[in-house]
Amino acid sequence: MARSSPVPPRSDVSALSKYHSAQVDVPVRLNTNESPFPPPDEWRQEVARLVTSIDWNRYPDREAIALRSAIAARHGVDASSVFVANGSNEVLQTLLLSYAGAGRSVAVFEPTYQLHAHLARISGANVVAGRRSVDHTLSADEIQRVVTQYSPHVTFLCSPNNPTGRVESWDNITLLSDIAPGLVVIDEAYAEFSERSAVELASSPGGNVVVSRTFSKTWSLAGLRLGYLIAPPDVVDMLHTVVLPYHLDAFKQAAGIAALKYVDEMNDRVMRIVAERGRIMSALEGLEIESWPSGANFVLFRPTRVDGHTVWQRLVDRGVLVRDCSSWSGVEHCLRVTIGDEAENTMFIKALKQALEQSE
Ligand SMILES: *Cc1c(COP(=O)(O)O)cnc(C)c1O
Repeated sequence: MARSSPVPPRSDVSALSKYHSAQVDVPVRLNTNESPFPPPDEWRQEVARLVTSIDWNRYPDREAIALRSAIAARHGVDASSVFVANGSNEVLQTLLLSYAGAGRSVAVFEPTYQLHAHLARISGANVVAGRRSVDHTLSADEIQRVVTQYSPHVTFLCSPNNPTGRVESWDNITLLSDIAPGLVVIDEAYAEFSERSAVELASSPGGNVVVSRTFSKTWSLAGLRLGYLIAPPDVVDMLHTVVLPYHLDAFKQAAGIAALKYVDEMNDRVMRIVAERGRIMSALEGLEIESWPSGANFVLFRPTRVDGHTVWQRLVDRGVLVRDCSSWSGVEHCLRVTIGDEAENTMFIKALKQALEQSE
């Protein structure tokens, strides 16, 4: 008989469900918004050399000054406005441990990235949710309502929004910045796939806007686990108090600095994905599908005649895995496809056509 531990876990965390994406072993995997392209070969070779030159017996630079300076230079801000961690998820977790927690409230606007609410709950905070409209845009009235009713300590916007693909309107971002009593977190995991960024609002001392970014998507480095925050220096300072000492290892710091030398290669891959996104969008237009504009490396769509989950299963049967969002609130019957390489996208389009035509 399995023994249960002598102390039960916190009741609020034991009530949570695991955050995961169903993994099925199929040839075409378009379900987790990774880049279909590997990072540049030159980067790989440089990293191989770096491994042999690291002082492995020494602790890494605790404040990751060189990496933060390289990121800061890219965004035209000061290194004191940059916080780095193991993926933007750890960035957001550290932010929530610092600014949310028990007795505080965190606002999200659903449907959106589920991890924001999940991490907020783990911090002990109360999560309050506003709603997006049926077309997945967010109304100023709804922003006003949530802020007035709950006075959240932290408010999340995700732009482009996962899973809808929508780029948040500039008016909404500035409205929130004007009226929110606490921090406004803009999760820009997909920023390079769209045109607008809130970074310009994020570094001014005393400001309330912070922007998170990641190397996982546009930089083709999901395996590296590296993300960062652009924020006023006092916020960055606070996060350094809360995060574990030496949380970012020496290898990752060096690999991140090396990656930033390949901006042109990154932009090139982003352009190819954006072009393929256009091709998928046009292919969807000819089918019995409703879809929404996307500023990211994925497209959300809803089969209008066949049930969403059924289409998901039929795609899997044809060797194509997409994200099944069909049971998520606000995106019922929807599926989300990550833009892959040209061949993968062609296989997806072909499989989708067959899945929609299939008779039972
Ligand atoms: C993929 C994704 C991230 C990435 O998190 P990492 O921990 O940096 O890999 C963050 N936010 C959103 C909305 C995402 O979709």
